[in-house]
Amino acid sequence: MEDYRDRIQGLLQGKESMLIRGEWAKSRSGQCLSTDNPATEEKLCEVSLASEEDVELAVDAAARAFPGWRQVDPFERAQRVSALANALRQHAEDFALLDAIDSGNPLTAMKGDVLMTAGIMDYFAALAGELKGQILPGKPGMLHTVFQEPYGVVVRIIPFNHPIFFAACKIAAPLVAGNTVILKPAEQTPLSALEMGKYVKEFFPPGVVNIVTGDGPITGSALVRHPKTRRIALTGGVDTGRAVLKLAAEGGIKNVTLELGGKNPMIVFPDADMEKAVESAVVGMNFHWCQGQSCGSTSRLFLHKKIHDEFLDRLIQRTGRIRIGLPLDSRTEMGCLVSKDQYDKTFRYIELGKKEGAKLVAGGSRPEGEIFSKGYFVKPTIFDRVEMSMRIAREEIFGPVLSVLVWEDYEEVVEKANSVDYGLTASVWSRDLRLAYQTAERLEAGYLWINGSSRHFLGVPFGGFKQSGIGREESVEELLSYTQVKAVNTAL
Ligand code: NAD
Repeated sequence: MEDYRDRIQGLLQGKESMLIRGEWAKSRSGQCLSTDNPATEEKLCEVSLASEEDVELAVDAAARAFPGWRQVDPFERAQRVSALANALRQHAEDFALLDAIDSGNPLTAMKGDVLMTAGIMDYFAALAGELKGQILPGKPGMLHTVFQEPYGVVVRIIPFNHPIFFAACKIAAPLVAGNTVILKPAEQTPLSALEMGKYVKEFFPPGVVNIVTGDGPITGSALVRHPKTRRIALTGGVDTGRAVLKLAAEGGIKNVTLELGGKNPMIVFPDADMEKAVESAVVGMNFHWCQGQSCGSTSRLFLHKKIHDEFLDRLIQRTGRIRIGLPLDSRTEMGCLVSKDQYDKTFRYIELGKKEGAKLVAGGSRPEGEIFSKGYFVKPTIFDRVEMSMRIAREEIFGPVLSVLVWEDYEEVVEKANSVDYGLTASVWSRDLRLAYQTAERLEAGYLWINGSSRHFLGVPFGGFKQSGIGREESVEELLSYTQVKAVNTAL
């Protein structure tokens, strides 16, 4: 394994400061948060915990920068977003290193995240021409014109599981649309967003992008509640989503979109291509890449009775081949969970699953070996004979725990798949495409795969039904969601 120590030490320099109005500044209150390496349980460094006063400064900076930024030619705004994307590509290894030590995700996977992020930013840059208006028919002598205008100050609050991915690609659409942005990374993984600040400073006028670090209760709440933040977008848990809706209402009438959690079903029919479906069940659970800490994970696997035994055998074997290791080792496919909280929560659910009567058929423990003597490592875990009455089947664990349920009756499996409060993703496996489509039509989810899982496709709107959220991203809908419609009726 390569020795990255010196390079990491260099990258950690200056991370106690936030980017506000184009300047690096520590929190006015002097309060800090510690960020740790979850693979070693060692402290990496401290970052600022932004207080209400810091939030006030960031909002003021973003509000002052807005009139100038909205006047910039949209194609120039797009070029600047692409310039930032290129900087990410050029420094991909730095970003990946920071994410790997901060989140516990494998370095190789994080390099993939950086490149994917840059691609998404370019996609939004290329959509600048979609910020077009309309001329509508009307009475003679009248001209009805419709414009898409930016909101002003946008707040983007993001989670820990894909740090640079969320930090960078989630500011692209609001910026191209002419808004100014305040980005708040997750408290567990603030480093790569701060690193991005170096390049933000180079490509954007002061105040157009502000990066504030902090927690939810103080920093996040103050941003959402502030009367001058006009548009809020959260990617996070359902409870946070509910809190954000309330807090936003305290500050005024705001446009809020929410990308929240999931407890997503994968339904496998007896005629499915078993080899591919087994692979898809593993990839869909996101065991590798982020250790099951993904909103889109297909964590409820409904196997038809006829294929259950063989499928499960193959699944256990395939899962057993996943290489768990230290995040910085380039051979590692599965790293560790982001924090002690996530680790403890995962083991609480593993114990609960056993108590509830599910059958533990894989994992359920830490991996063995000297290198795992520290760190929040959990083996890929599979429970069989899970029932929908069990909490492990109903609640989002956000860890590497897969629940397998057996089915025989079609109506029953559709009803069970829909019987949770979430509705983010779903997967259907069958060679009979008509049946698969009919099933997809009946599933209450916003993003579905037929004979697939996990992959996102640029331009295809991503988002949830029910408690999984409001709004759609990764598509033209996301860009337009950062605009409001203005209609001008002119008597000629
Ligand atoms: P979280 O909800 O705890 O935190 C997300 C962000 O919200 C963090 O930056 C946090 O500081 C902030 N926050 C917390 N409380 C807040 C408050 N009261 N006001 C304002 N901001 C607040 O989520 P997490 O643990 O970081 O991430 C896991 C969750 O995110 C899971 O539920 C997962 O499914 C979800 N998620 C959803 C998507 C999606 O696209 N739908 C993607 C990734 C993760």
